[in-house]
Amino acid sequence: MRIAVLSGKGGTGKTFISVNLAATAPASVYIDCDVEEPNGHLFYKPQNVVSERIAVKIPQVDSALCKGCRTCVNFCKFNALAYAVNKVIVFDEVCHSCGGCQLLCPQKAIAEKEKEIGRIERGLSGNVRVVTGMLNVGEASGVPVIKKLLHNSRLEKEDMIIDCPPGSACTVMESIKEADYCILVAEPTIFGVHNLNMVYELVKLFQKPFGVVLNKYLEEDNPAEVFCQKNQINILEKIPFDMELGTLNSNGQIAVRADSKYKSLFQDLWCTVRKEACDETASHT
Ligand code: SF4
Ligand code: SF4
Repeated sequence: MRIAVLSGKGGTGKTFISVNLAATAPASVYIDCDVEEPNGHLFYKPQNVVSERIAVKIPQVDSALCKGCRTCVNFCKFNALAYAVNKVIVFDEVCHSCGGCQLLCPQKAIAEKEKEIGRIERGLSGNVRVVTGMLNVGEASGVPVIKKLLHNSRLEKEDMIIDCPPGSACTVMESIKEADYCILVAEPTIFGVHNLNMVYELVKLFQKPFGVVLNKYLEEDNPAEVFCQKNQINILEKIPFDMELGTLNSNGQIAVRADSKYKSLFQDLWCTVRKEACDETASHT
């Protein structure tokens, strides 16, 4: 089962929920798709880490063959090509490696070169296999790294927890595409509702079954809770605001491994999510 954890912005506790949920499952794979700022591995401190480089193909124009017809420039919808000073200029950072320009060039003047954009690291931490995507600084899109992360994980037999990037951009869409169930993490503020609404719209668009975890919960007015009630959204768990949790987190500790109280809380959440996800799967078969 693939469970994606999302939030409308960083700092809501998405990685905290993902890391602790994966550590609670009997055996699981934690996949960090927050490739611009992956930090799940800082908690897991995985052992026996193996690294794989991720590269994409970028067009390379042979000026001697190019006749300046600009077919390639006009084709590229990403504005990754320009024709100036009698030659084609390639803007690597915005190229989506679609290969179209190479196919269309009547002069066969375009070849491809490999460009490293990031890496994937795999390691082990107790019952969790930790898989982390890392995008090189300055790269425009983490989508190729996420595609590779999830493609390589297709054959995993264990339950998978996918720690998504924050927000609702294309990297998030890529991360939830094949998820069986989504957990939306919400903060108890008006701004938190705005962020929750973003990911709520996204999972509806993708027709994914989902539920909400209210993080930093206090027995006071909670706009995120009101939003869920108004929209009849299932609240999976309320994780109390707790200074001890903050301390464990800032010390890079995994709460469920450090304190039985949190272990029991996340076991409840794990059972609820598994049941929800199974019920949803059954109702769609
Ligand atoms: S399509 Fe080929 S020949 Fe035409 S401008 Fe591009 S590289 Fe040059
Ligand atoms: S490979 Fe695709 S995105 Fe990249 S320059 Fe060519 S047409 Fe544009």
